[in-house]
Amino acid sequence: EIVPIRRALISVSDKTGLVAFAQALAARGVEILSTGGSARALRDAGIAVTEVSAHTGFPEILDGRVKTLVPQIHGGILGRRDLPEHLAQMQQHGIAPIDLVAVNLYPFEATVAKGAPFDDCVENIDIGGPALIRAAAKNHDFVVVLTEAAQYADVLAEMEAQGGTTLALRRRLAGAAYARTAAYDSAIAAWFADQRGEAFPPRLAVAGTLRQGLRYGENPHQQAAFYVTGARPGVATARQAQGKELSYNNLNDTDAAFEAVAEFEAPTVVIVKHANPCGVASADTLAAAWEQALRCDPVSAFGGIVAANRILDEAAAERIAAIFTEVIVAPDATEGAKAILAKKKNLRLLLTGGLPDPAEPGLVFRSLSGGFLAQGRDAGRVSRETLKVVTKRAPSEAELDDLLFAFRVCKHVKSNAIVYAKGGATVGIGAGQMSRVDSARIAAWKSEEAAKAAGLTGRLTEGSVVASDAFFPFADGLQAAVAAGATAVIQPGGSIRDEEVIAAADDAGIAMVFTGMRHFRH
Ligand code: 5GP
Repeated sequence: EIVPIRRALISVSDKTGLVAFAQALAARGVEILSTGGSARALRDAGIAVTEVSAHTGFPEILDGRVKTLVPQIHGGILGRRDLPEHLAQMQQHGIAPIDLVAVNLYPFEATVAKGAPFDDCVENIDIGGPALIRAAAKNHDFVVVLTEAAQYADVLAEMEAQGGTTLALRRRLAGAAYARTAAYDSAIAAWFADQRGEAFPPRLAVAGTLRQGLRYGENPHQQAAFYVTGARPGVATARQAQGKELSYNNLNDTDAAFEAVAEFEAPTVVIVKHANPCGVASADTLAAAWEQALRCDPVSAFGGIVAANRILDEAAAERIAAIFTEVIVAPDATEGAKAILAKKKNLRLLLTGGLPDPAEPGLVFRSLSGGFLAQGRDAGRVSRETLKVVTKRAPSEAELDDLLFAFRVCKHVKSNAIVYAKGGATVGIGAGQMSRVDSARIAAWKSEEAAKAAGLTGRLTEGSVVASDAFFPFADGLQAAVAAGATAVIQPGGSIRDEEVIAAADDAGIAMVFTGMRHFRH
């Protein structure tokens, strides 16, 4: 079960940790075989090493395209030490067993990421490396395979403790090895698809890097883990500055909040509960934006997630910390703000280092039974110029500002989404209903409750504007909005009953614009 290591093959592009690892192997009497560049690095460090070409009697050829693709190497890795025929054949052909294979691959992903020309990318497709890794992983009964520097210490620790590697470790590393070669080939396939200008269907590089195991999923009886797949500034790459461990729901909700807040240019705060905004406001300062966002639905905001699109300052931190908040996410925070939040031990503070570009293309996924769906991120954004006024009355400038604001919020609210806004703040949000008219009614009702909480009579929606994420199929949804006091409407248009809806808007004397773009979010 414990396999001692007598001969190791090291062939690495990323030479991080290489010298220390090889030194430790050499100190334990391991014979080291290595390819050109790796061998040079080891020799330079004064470590005894045998070039693969000297070991096999066959030179590296074709600019390194063929270095280790020879029977002496692959036979040495793949031969079973418990089969007499294997041992006999190895002996007959002069093949020495190799017990450890440490390989990391040509940096294909990094070469693509830095925008290298086509031919450079092709040249960085490693051929021999994956073959070595897959062979060693297959024969893990006898061979240990290492595919990244972080694993060196694990192997050395077992060699130190018990004179060789355990089957448990060899199996774990074999699994990691195949995950690595699978991700590598996925990246190559995705790159080829890109080269053909073929965005869809995407050739998916689905494997991410495990960031952390989570205590549980959406519910305590579900297991969960968190993976990172890219470098987009956001929740996956953020630094947690303080607070308890993030849960699955925290991460999901925080992502929704941060993606929403990144839509806005002015200082803006989004408060999220259950992945839906319950208050969004833009103002001159984050503190003012938070006050206004809170007013929209102070009951729901309790225990919410707060996202800001600016460096969190002291004034904002002071206000936010005054009510129970699960998570705050922002590009950064001042030292003063951090000191204020530090008093709330459980409050999680996530700093992303930047804002994601809401117009950036990208993929989003949804699982379904037996498969998953992929689509481009909803990077759509409407602008003043693309709006079409369809009513007799055109919106005023102030109404236009609020219409665009409300429609942008709508994009981040589950369908059917109805969002009332006034003065750069939401004043009523109806989310996730199966009928649009219900969303409109719920938003209006919630705004009455919010007014009550603020000690006001009537509703906050009086004199507001309203956005609908998709067209009104009937006039009733629009009439509900009018009844709530809305004076202007933004919606995609495109219903066969548009005329009826426009007539209802004209009857009520309100202004309506069509965007020609909808923002379903199911
Ligand atoms: P070195 O820097 O040691 O010259 O090369 C190390 C790299 O070569 C590693 O990334 C390894 O995966 C790769 N490699 C090892 N053998 C072969 C081979 O036969 N063909 C190709 N294309 N790459 C190889």
